[in-house]
Amino acid sequence: MTTQKQPMSHDSSMITGRTKVVAVIGHPIEHSLSPAIHNAGFRSTGLDWVYVAFDVAAGSASAALDSVRTLGLAGLSVTMPHKQDIAMAVDNLSPSARNLASVNTVSVSHDGRLTGHSTDGDGLVASLQELGIDVEDRTVTIFGAGGAARSVIDSLERHRASRICVVNRTLLAAQRAIELAHGRGLAVSGDDRGTIAEFVQNSEIVINATSVGMSGSDDLVLDPRLLGSQHVVVDLVYHPLETPLLRAATERGCRVVDGIGMLVHQAALQQVVWTGVRPDVQEMNRVARQALS
Ligand code: NAP
Repeated sequence: MTTQKQPMSHDSSMITGRTKVVAVIGHPIEHSLSPAIHNAGFRSTGLDWVYVAFDVAAGSASAALDSVRTLGLAGLSVTMPHKQDIAMAVDNLSPSARNLASVNTVSVSHDGRLTGHSTDGDGLVASLQELGIDVEDRTVTIFGAGGAARSVIDSLERHRASRICVVNRTLLAAQRAIELAHGRGLAVSGDDRGTIAEFVQNSEIVINATSVGMSGSDDLVLDPRLLGSQHVVVDLVYHPLETPLLRAATERGCRVVDGIGMLVHQAALQQVVWTGVRPDVQEMNRVARQALS
């Protein structure tokens, strides 16, 4: 893929006919942090790329892919509600996107073929690795079995976590999600307090991948008395940055990790897919935190 180094590519007065354009599609999209994070990444590499957001209604994913071809966009980020539809509409899928039947990144090859990728789960694992937390041979309990949880389970499996317990309010969704762990996991109903306690106590890493804890909610997805200083507690929710779970986990002496690391690292992995160049993740992190503050 050809890329051109041009400092200050973020400055709109520097956009030219050669500037490569990538976009996120989703609905709603106006509060997305992705443009701020990605443009910070492109600035850090000096590449002549720019990132914009398009509000695309549910059901129009395939039409959006036609637009990528027609307009010559250099790539796409995909968010709710299009991840599954795009997975069915692209020309190829990466192994993880195929496993998940879900796409958050589209790359464009020289011959115009579109490939779907999924970088969310690897973004979480990369954010933990950046903090010196390795998932290999670790036991992990994940609360939630939706799209975020599934991408994390897929990545934990590929990074050789030893055991994965998925706890979900709806057991059937947990049972479907745990298939991604290829025999190294257990699905548990959110009502099964005994099994949850046993697994959390035997886990090194505990992850909230439910939407519990998003702005306005004081609810906790687990009893914080199960947590202790042996745990790394991760909350994928990043709004607010300090969720009720992370506050309780801090009080219990746990090491806590908020959701911004995953958000930023999955974006950095997207840029590597599109450009082959690794952006400055710390700068993207700084811009994301600033946008949320
Ligand atoms: P999703 O597909 O809609 O899944 C939501 C999950 O939350 C399901 O497992 C659902 O359980 C569970 N849930 C919802 N309300 C609950 C409640 N009151 N009690 C217990 N469980 C509840 O959503 P998603 O895309 O996976 O996203 C989940 C969270 O992760 C969101 O807050 C999102 O912002 C965050 N996220 C963060 C990043 C990041 O980069 N940091 C990336 C993706 C997502 P049921 O199956 O029983 O409904």
